[in-house]
Amino acid sequence: MSLEEQVKNKAVNIEKKDEDRKKHQWLKIGIPFVVLLSFVGWLTGWLRDQAMDATTILSISAPMQKQAETLYKRNTFGKKLVALTFDDGPFPATTNRLLDILREKEVRATFFELGTMASRYPDVTKRVYNEKHELASHTMSHRQLNKISAGEVAAEAGQARDVIRNITGEDPMLMRPPYGAINRIVAGNVGAPMILWTVDTEDWRSKDAGSVLERARSAAFDGAIILMHDIYESTVDGAAMVIDALREDGYEFVTVSELAKMRGVELRNGEAYGSFKP
Ligand SMILES: [Zn+2]
Repeated sequence: MSLEEQVKNKAVNIEKKDEDRKKHQWLKIGIPFVVLLSFVGWLTGWLRDQAMDATTILSISAPMQKQAETLYKRNTFGKKLVALTFDDGPFPATTNRLLDILREKEVRATFFELGTMASRYPDVTKRVYNEKHELASHTMSHRQLNKISAGEVAAEAGQARDVIRNITGEDPMLMRPPYGAINRIVAGNVGAPMILWTVDTEDWRSKDAGSVLERARSAAFDGAIILMHDIYESTVDGAAMVIDALREDGYEFVTVSELAKMRGVELRNGEAYGSFKP
C-alpha cells in the first residue's frame, strides 16, 4: 500500500468514526427526548382526568372551590342547556302525569308553584321535591304584583314561602312573579331572585301539544328558560314531545338554579333573570 493510499485509508476511517460518534450523539439526545415526550403525554392525560374529577369536588376550601368551579364550567362548555319550567300547579291529575314522564325520561325541571295550590295538594308538592326537581314560588295567590302595595307584595311572597317550607322543610330559593309583572316595589319586597322566561310556549292559549312543541323547538337556544304550565293535559303531552325534540337537537335539561350556576351567575334577591347564555 502506497503512502498515499495509507493516508487515504486513515482519512476514510476517521470519517467513519466521526459518523459513528454523530450517530451516538443523536441517540444521546433522542432517548431522553422520547422519554420526555412520553412523560408529557402521561401528564396531559393525568391533568385531564383531574379536571374530570373536579366536577365531583365542588366544596372543599374557598380557593379550591373557585378552581373546581372554573374546571366545572370548562367541562360543561359546549353543552347546550335549557331549563323547563312549569307554573301555576300543583294540580294532581296533570302534575303527577308530568312527573311520571320526567322520571321516565330522566329530566329534572323547575316548578313555580302557587301557595294556594300547594296547600291544597301538599302530596304533589312533596313528590316534586322528593323527585329532585327544583321547587320554587309563584306567590301565594297569583296577584299581579305591580298593582299592589309593598306590604301586599311581601305577604304574597312570604306566605307562599311558608306553605312550601311547611311541606318540604326547605325554603324555595327562587320566585316567578305572575305575568312577569315587576317594578321597583316588587323587586324590593319579594326577597328572592325573580325568574322570568325567554321561550313562551303559550300553552295556556293554544291548549295544543303540537303547538307547544313547535313554539318551544323553534325558539329554544342555549341557556333559555322555557315557560309552560303543568295544569293542562295538552301541556303534559307537549312537554314529553319537547323533551324528545330538544334532546335530538343536542340540548340537556337542568333546573334554573343549576343553569345559573353552570353559567357562573350568582343570583341576587330582587333581580330579574330571563336566560343564562354561555
Ligand atoms: Zn302563573
